[in-house]
Amino acid sequence: MDSLALLRDLCERFGVAGFEGDVRERLEELVRPHVDEIRVDPLGNLIGERQGTGGPTLMVDAHMDEIGFMVSYVEEEGWLRVVPVGGWDARIVASHALTILADDGGKVPGVFGTVPPHMLTQADREKPLTLEDAFVDVGAESADEVEELGIRVGSPAVIAYPFGQLDGANTVMGKALDDRAGCAVLVQVLEALAGETLEVTLVASFAVSEELGLRGAKTAAAQIEPDLALALEGTVAADVPGIAPARQPTRLGDGPAITVMDQTIVVSPVVVRALTDLAEAEGVPYQYKLPGVGGTDAGEIHLSGKGVPTGVVSIPCRYIHSPFSVMRLDDFENAVRLTTAFVRRCTEILPPAREG
Ligand SMILES: [Zn+2]
Repeated sequence: MDSLALLRDLCERFGVAGFEGDVRERLEELVRPHVDEIRVDPLGNLIGERQGTGGPTLMVDAHMDEIGFMVSYVEEEGWLRVVPVGGWDARIVASHALTILADDGGKVPGVFGTVPPHMLTQADREKPLTLEDAFVDVGAESADEVEELGIRVGSPAVIAYPFGQLDGANTVMGKALDDRAGCAVLVQVLEALAGETLEVTLVASFAVSEELGLRGAKTAAAQIEPDLALALEGTVAADVPGIAPARQPTRLGDGPAITVMDQTIVVSPVVVRALTDLAEAEGVPYQYKLPGVGGTDAGEIHLSGKGVPTGVVSIPCRYIHSPFSVMRLDDFENAVRLTTAFVRRCTEILPPAREG
């Protein structure tokens, strides 16, 4: 499947943390032809395993979940109150359209209602918008009508807009590029390796609930017991007006980003060097992500078992953790090339096992 169609398909699926079923079903279809074994673990991680020639086990992770909301209360008059699932900036939520997952699996549209500007006092205008004050309108006039729609306390919701191309070519926008971009890279890496005999046992792990604290990756790594791992992310690009270059974690168009350190891991210099050397050898443009920003599943994976050398390759995305993010297809495709090269050649960087 071409990059654009794959990204569109994955981005538009519903996958709020803890409710990744829609994304998982599609990924299972896409991955099954390229692995020897595939399973869904008790927390909902999708794990596909491809046997190699007896070499070490390489875990490649991408998370399926996205940030969203959960219905926390239904007012008598039919308004919904919500709490965030994952890290939102409350100031940008007002007046956006929502998709709420109903009990029967259907999607119910809604909108974050706002008070018309005509009615605002000066004091109202200066008050920051908070999620505690936010209310969602689903067109219902009573709590009973909300119930008839299949919505209840606990229903998950997401701000949703259609996937699109900004410039008709290389720049795309969509919700949940964090981390459907990583999921799509992993799918394309498996496609690129079709028919090849690998030295490593390759385990593709599509994790749940990253946005709530790297939860799925923790149990996935515990059962995979990798010797080496790589996390794929859609990460913060901040190459926008008002942010000085020294504060831009990544930039669009400069290639996939290699993490040296973030809030969850200091990547082994051996892994950073290997990714850098591979990028150079393959002619793949790359950038280093500005140290100290964010965190990924690598944070949990590298602490599993007796410890796992783990790297992070990210696709720069502007506006992540907002209703839509913006990414360049050439960065995405270069992330596929770098990751594919890593799978083929990662055994060269593993230190020889130390005999006890
Ligand atoms: Zn992410």
